[in-house]
Amino acid sequence: MFSKILIANRGEIALRVLRACREMGIRTVAVHSTADADAMHVRLADEAVCIGPPAARDSYLNVAAILSAATITGAEAIHPGYGFLSENADFAETVEAHGLAFIGPTAEHIRTMGDKISAKTTMEALGVPLVPGSDGELLSIDEAYEVADRVGYPVLIKAAAGGGGRGMKVAQTREELPEAWSVARTESLAAFGNDAVYLEKYLDKPRHIELQILGDTHGNVVHFGERDCSLQRRHQKLLEEAGSPALTAEERDAIGATATAALSKMGYRNAGTLEFLYQDGQFCFIEMNTRLQVEHPVTEMVCDVDLVREQIRIAAGEPLGYSQKDITFSGHAIECRINAEDPDTFIPSPGTITVYHPPGGLGVRIDSAVYAGYRVPPYYDSMIAKLIVHAPTREAAIARMSRALDELVVEGVNTVVPLHRRILADPEFQKGDYTIHWLENFTARGK
Ligand code: ADP
Repeated sequence: MFSKILIANRGEIALRVLRACREMGIRTVAVHSTADADAMHVRLADEAVCIGPPAARDSYLNVAAILSAATITGAEAIHPGYGFLSENADFAETVEAHGLAFIGPTAEHIRTMGDKISAKTTMEALGVPLVPGSDGELLSIDEAYEVADRVGYPVLIKAAAGGGGRGMKVAQTREELPEAWSVARTESLAAFGNDAVYLEKYLDKPRHIELQILGDTHGNVVHFGERDCSLQRRHQKLLEEAGSPALTAEERDAIGATATAALSKMGYRNAGTLEFLYQDGQFCFIEMNTRLQVEHPVTEMVCDVDLVREQIRIAAGEPLGYSQKDITFSGHAIECRINAEDPDTFIPSPGTITVYHPPGGLGVRIDSAVYAGYRVPPYYDSMIAKLIVHAPTREAAIARMSRALDELVVEGVNTVVPLHRRILADPEFQKGDYTIHWLENFTARGK
C-alpha cells in the first residue's frame, strides 16, 4: 500500500480523498493555488504545496507544478478527484512515466472514452445499446440530413469532445438543422479546440440513469447499481438519487450485467460510470466518465462501500476481494448539491460565508470544505457542499432531506437551498415522476 498520496484537487473532493487516506493510514499532500491558501484541504493535509496563481490553468491544471510537488514530497500516487486533470489522458500518462501511480484508469481508456464518438463505437462493439444516431463523426451537413431523416426529428448535434453540457444543440425540425449544425461546431471549436460532431435522436422524455463500476487489475469488474441524475438544469445535475425510482431490481441486474461484461472485456480498471438515457424501458448509452463522480456518495450510502478507498486499493494492485453477489443495496439515498448561486437566476454568488451550520443526525452526511469565515473564490466551481441522506425508504429519505435542509444555515452567499426545498415538496417529485426535462419546466413555472 502507498504511504503518501498527492491529491490534485481542491474543495470537498480533496477533503473526501484526504479522509479516505487518513482512515487507511496514508499520508496526504495537498496542492493549492494562492487563492486557496486558507482552504480546509490545505489545513487538514499532512503537507501542502502551493502550485500557482488563482486561475486553474496556472495551478490545478498545471501538470509540471503538480508533478514537481509530488516529486519533492515523495508522494507515490496521485488522486485527481473529479474535474481539472481527472480525465486528461496525457496527465495520467505523464504521472505514470514519472514512476507514480495514477489513481484511475489507464491513459488509453481515458482517451477512448474522452472522445464521445470513440466511446460509443467501443461500447457498441461490446454489446452496449446506444441512442439511435450517426455511425461516428458527421463529415458534412448532407450526411446530417440523411441520418436525421432516418432516425426522425427532433435530433441533437453533439460535440465529440463535449462536456459540461456544452457543444450540444437540438434541431426540432429539418429547417433548424443547419443552425444546430453550425452552432454546435462553433461552440465545440471554441471550448474544446475540436469541431467533430455526431448526431443522436433527441429523446423526448428520458431519465438520466448511470451505473457505478469498479474494476481491479486482476480482471474483476463489478457494479454498484444505478444513480438517477435526471434532475438537471442546462444538462448539469442538481439532485441525485440511488436507486432510481423508475427501475426494478431486475432491470438493474440486467443493465449491470451488460455493463460489467463490456468493461471486463475492455480490461477496465478503477472507477468508472456508464451514463445512459432510459426511456420506455430501454437503456441507451450516451457516455462514460472515467473518474469518480460528484454524486458517488449516494452509491456509497446504499451499498455501504467507500469508493475512494476502493480506488486507492485498486491503484495499489490489490484485488477487489468480493464479487457481484456480495454487493447488496439497502434503503434509499438522495444528494442535494448546494451551489453558491442565486436560486432563481443561477448566477454564481461568491463571497464570504459569515455563518455556517451543517445539519446532523441519523442518516445525514455532508461533504464540504467550507466553514464560517470562508471566502468562496470566484475562480472555480460554485458547489460549496453536498448534502446526502440515507433512509430505509425513498419517502423517509425525502422527509430526512427536507429536515436536514431546514437545519442547514449558510449566510453571506446565496445558495440553491430554497429550490431544493421546493423540489422536495413537489408531488411529482415525491412520486418519482420526472424526466431530464422536468427541472427546467419546474423552474420556468416559478413555483
Ligand atoms: P456532457 O458530457 O456535456 O455532460 P452528455 O452526453 O453526458 O454530455 O449529456 C448531458 C445531458 O444532456 C444528459 O444527461 C441529458 O440530459 C442530455 N442529453 C444528451 N443526449 C441526449 C439525447 N440524445 N436526447 C435527449 N437528451 C440528451
